[in-house]
Amino acid sequence: MLFTHINVLDENLDWQKDQFVGVEGSTITYVGATEPTDPERFGERYDGCGKLLMSALYNTHAHTPMTLLRGYAENQPLQQWLNDTVWPFEGKMSVERGHHYWGCMLAQAEMLRYGIVGYTDMYFGTIDRCKAAIEAGMKANHCDGGTMCFVETDYDTLPVAALNKQLFDEYHLAADGRIRIDMCVHGEYTTPQGMIERCVAEAKANNAGLHIHMSETQTEHEECKQRHDGMTPAAWLDSLGAFDVPITAAHCVWVEPSDIELMARKGVNVSLNPASNMKLASGFAPVQAMIDAGVNCSLGTDGMASNNTHNILQSAYLLACSQKGNALDPTIITPKQALQMLTANGARAQGRTDCGVLAVGKKADLVVIDVDTPWMCPVYDMATNLLYSANGADVLLTMCDGKVLYENGEYKTIDIEKAKAEVRRSVGEILDALHE
Ligand SMILES: [Zn+2]
Repeated sequence: MLFTHINVLDENLDWQKDQFVGVEGSTITYVGATEPTDPERFGERYDGCGKLLMSALYNTHAHTPMTLLRGYAENQPLQQWLNDTVWPFEGKMSVERGHHYWGCMLAQAEMLRYGIVGYTDMYFGTIDRCKAAIEAGMKANHCDGGTMCFVETDYDTLPVAALNKQLFDEYHLAADGRIRIDMCVHGEYTTPQGMIERCVAEAKANNAGLHIHMSETQTEHEECKQRHDGMTPAAWLDSLGAFDVPITAAHCVWVEPSDIELMARKGVNVSLNPASNMKLASGFAPVQAMIDAGVNCSLGTDGMASNNTHNILQSAYLLACSQKGNALDPTIITPKQALQMLTANGARAQGRTDCGVLAVGKKADLVVIDVDTPWMCPVYDMATNLLYSANGADVLLTMCDGKVLYENGEYKTIDIEKAKAEVRRSVGEILDALHE
């Protein structure tokens, strides 16, 4: 495809007007202010007038089947939310009845609609989620929550041992590397020491990463210190080797200055989830301190019981505004920093160094955004308008590895009406089971 006369956010997220961008196969092979001399080699032409082309977006913390819980558990304190509402509902979800598959599929449609091509996902029904990602043509880092065991348990006696072996054998780096399998450590408070150490060993042995919730709430952070001689979750996890493998740590709301120094030194990827953290009243992460220390910060939506949207551009808006408000400092979190979290930093957290920027030689993970709208006029700085004025639904086209997966209301790989119907069917079955 050859995008013609289109606005571009280049590899430095600077605005370039009236550009030509050519894609061949899965790769960006041309970027320039003049039309290439042999335009035929790119195939179809895309008229970019009034539109903006930029890197696609990456969501580094999700629980995709939780689309089934969107709007189900509201206005409750965290423990009540989890114990009385979320966990009983999840207890009735059935892989055999396709609940995880369809919840994931609907989440993927929503993410594509909002310009996301890659996501990092922690849940159950992991084979179904891998299949859904392959079918949708998306990039996904999946891990299975079966390692969450609360009390010390022999990993090899759990169903997740055989499942992870199958996942690593059949799905790790499958579909041209679009699918990656990680080990799951749900959290310090749900996963005992021996299990964490084994998860680290499995990640190392399988050339994989770890996905974890860390210092999400003050209670979790402080109780960890009581349990482990004053060690914070970050210090404790590092002592067990968890920071010696590629790791994405979600939330990091209550991390301390010593944690930030440690995470920067060990290359920990942080996934910030501002919508979830505000909705569940967990607090505000020290984002500017992490950025200043050199920590790779990216953005996640978290599950739909605590957000309730995969509109990640809205998450970036919330992050910037809430950080400024909380710090009483309007100078922190620049639009470019926020957009970098959505793009290059997110791809890097997912172990993908060949995408996340619009540049020749990179994979063609791209989105087209309508900038011919009242709310995008005038433009002094395109990154500023994108962060503060654009809507996630201004996305007109989403491309992953050179393939158009969404364009103008049409999903190329997902039967959206079937996905919505199957999610409604799944919810009905779960509510019936809960009321039996
Ligand atoms: Zn989460």
